[in-house]
Amino acid sequence: IERTFSIVKPDAVKRNLIGAIYQRIEAAGLQIVAAKMLHLTKEQAQGFYAEHEGKPFYDGLVEFMTSGPVTVQVLEGENAITRYRELMGKTNPEEAACGTLRADFAESMRFNSVHGSDSPASAEREIAYFFAGDEIC
Ligand code: ATP
Ligand code: MG
Repeated sequence: IERTFSIVKPDAVKRNLIGAIYQRIEAAGLQIVAAKMLHLTKEQAQGFYAEHEGKPFYDGLVEFMTSGPVTVQVLEGENAITRYRELMGKTNPEEAACGTLRADFAESMRFNSVHGSDSPASAEREIAYFFAGDEIC
């Protein structure tokens, strides 16, 4: 059994899509084992996306991710990391497969509604970034 980390980004929270996205996650057989809502500080967003520091989209990404509340989740299931990446679809919604979260909900490459860890190492780091061990069921 594997765990991954997911974010419902500010664009999706603003458009009342938390429930729809949770529905898709659960319908895909992934269990939400921890969840909370928070408004990221600039420092939290910069640290979370540190791997992208210096890239042309970094400052805009940090600004977007701090523009309103997000929800953060830990998802659990067999091959949860890969299965959730597939459920999200490609970063660019125009390239995302039909029926994926980004194809159906994302507005653009930046305002793309969801985040999901891309590897076991990322999942471990990202879960620990937002959740204490006793916050995960
Ligand atoms: P995420 O890490 O959010 O799950 P991802 O792994 O598909 O998405 P990354 O390459 O890690 O994509 O980029 C992180 C985020 O930065 C993207 O989800 C998107 O919001 C933003 N981003 C990436 N590339 C661009 C770009 N060219 N223009 C604008 N925003 C971008
Ligand atoms: Mg990524």
